[in-house]
Amino acid sequence: MSVRLTLVCVLVIICLISVSNLQAQPFSDKKLILKTVDYKLDLKIDYQNEKILGSCQLTVLNPSKQPINQIPLTLYRLLKVTSVKDEQGADLSFAQQVLSFEDWEQLQVNYVEVSLKTPIQQGERKTINIQYEGYLLGYSEVGMRYVKDSVDEEFTIIRPDCKAYPEVGYPSWRVTRAAGLQSFDYLVNVTVPESLVVANGGKLVDRVSKNGLVTYSYQNIKPAWRIDVAVAKYGILEDKANRLRVFHFQEDKEGARMVLDAMRKTMELFTDWFGPLRDYQGFAVIEIPEGFGSQADVTCIIQTRSAFKNKAQLYQLYHEISHLWNAEPLDPLPSRFESEGLAMFLQYLVQEKIEHKTDALGKGAQRLSESFRRECQKNPQCKDVPVIDYGKEMLTDLSYSKGMILFYVLYKLVGEDEFFKIIGTFYQKYNQTGATSDDFVNHAREVSSIDLTKFFDEWVYGNESSEYIINEIPIEEIVKKYRQ
Ligand SMILES: [Zn+2]
Repeated sequence: MSVRLTLVCVLVIICLISVSNLQAQPFSDKKLILKTVDYKLDLKIDYQNEKILGSCQLTVLNPSKQPINQIPLTLYRLLKVTSVKDEQGADLSFAQQVLSFEDWEQLQVNYVEVSLKTPIQQGERKTINIQYEGYLLGYSEVGMRYVKDSVDEEFTIIRPDCKAYPEVGYPSWRVTRAAGLQSFDYLVNVTVPESLVVANGGKLVDRVSKNGLVTYSYQNIKPAWRIDVAVAKYGILEDKANRLRVFHFQEDKEGARMVLDAMRKTMELFTDWFGPLRDYQGFAVIEIPEGFGSQADVTCIIQTRSAFKNKAQLYQLYHEISHLWNAEPLDPLPSRFESEGLAMFLQYLVQEKIEHKTDALGKGAQRLSESFRRECQKNPQCKDVPVIDYGKEMLTDLSYSKGMILFYVLYKLVGEDEFFKIIGTFYQKYNQTGATSDDFVNHAREVSSIDLTKFFDEWVYGNESSEYIINEIPIEEIVKKYRQ
C-alpha cells in the first residue's frame, strides 16, 4: 500500500471514529438500562429573555450485570447543556447534538451522552449534576398539538412532554416505550417573579422571597414518573379536611369551587365502593389553558380549563381520580385494560351517580363500540389481538374502548355490589405489591359467585368479544352467554 493510500485510510478511519462517537449502533437497537431513582431540579424562569435556566442533580441506578460507562440523555431541541459534573464537582465530558427520533423523524431532541470516569457497576447508583439553559417552543409542529409550551408570564408549564428537563433516554420511540415508566423521588425548586405562583402536585416544603423573586420548593408525595410544574397568577382553593387543592386562574374561581366539590364527592364515592386509599396524603388539580392536554400524575391532575367552565366535562376528573385506586401494573408491557378500561367505565358510572345523567354507561358503551369498530376497519389486527396482548402489540388505545365494554359486561353480569367487591378487594390486596393482568383475572374469578372462566376467556384471552362488538350484539345478549 502506498504511503498516500495509507494516509487516506487512516484519515477515513479517524473520521469514522469521530462520527460514530455519538452513534455506534442504531438507537432503536439499544436498550435503556439505567433507572432514574432521584431527581433534584433547580429552575429559574427568565421571563424577560423567555428562557429557562436549569440545574439538575440526577441519580441513576444500574440494575443490570453489565457495567455502564455512559449516561444517555434527551432534552428539548432548544435546550443546551453547558456543563456536567460528578458528585465531587469534577467536570465530566459530554457530547450533544440535535437529532431526530429514528422512528419519528419530525421529533427532534438534543441528544446528550455523558461519559463517566468509572463505570456504574451492578446495583450501583451514580449522581451527576447537569447545567442547562435555553428556550421552550413546544412540539405542535410534530403532531403533538397540545404541547404548546413556552415561557410566558400568562402561563408556563415545565413537563416531560416538551422535554423541559433532561431524562435518561435515546432518540427512539420504540426504546423509550420499551423502557416503561420510571419511579423516582423529586425535589423541585422554581424561582419566578413574586407576582406569580408555582403549582405542583407534590408537597410544598418551602417558599422563600428575596429581591422581588420567590422560590417554591416541592417534594413528591409518592414515587413519581413525571414532574409537572405550572406557573401563572394562580389562586388556590383548599379542602383541608380531605387534603384537596385546586390551583385555578383568577377568572375561574367559581369553576374551581365546582371542581373541588366534584373531587370531594368522587373521592367519597370511590372510598365507599372500594375502601380507603393506602397512604393517602392529598391530591391536587392544576388548571391549564384549553388545548394544553389534561394529564394525571400519581397525586395530581393537570386539567384543561374545559372542566372549570362546563360541568359536562367533569367526567375527565372522575376518570383521573379513579386511577388512584389502581394497583401498579407489573407486566413488562401492560395491556392497561384493568386501569384504563376501568377508568373509562367508572367515569360514566360516576356521571350517573353524581350528575344523575340518564344511561351514561349505555351511551358511553355505544360510543366506544363505534370507536372500536372504526379502529378494526382501519387496522384489521385490532379485532384479532386479545386484550391481554394490547401492551405487546402497542394497541393500548383499545384498552380504553374495548376495556370499558369489558367492564360494562362484567358489571351487568355480576351486579353492582359484587362488582365493587371485586375491584375494591383487588385494590386492597395488591396496592402495596402491584399486580399483573392475570392477577386481576384470577382475583375476580375467586371473588365472584358466578363462574367467570368463559367470560375472561372470550374478553381477555380470546377474541370472540371482538365479533360481538363488530356484529353489534346488544349488551344484554352478551351478558346472557355467561349466565348459567
Ligand atoms: Zn386514564
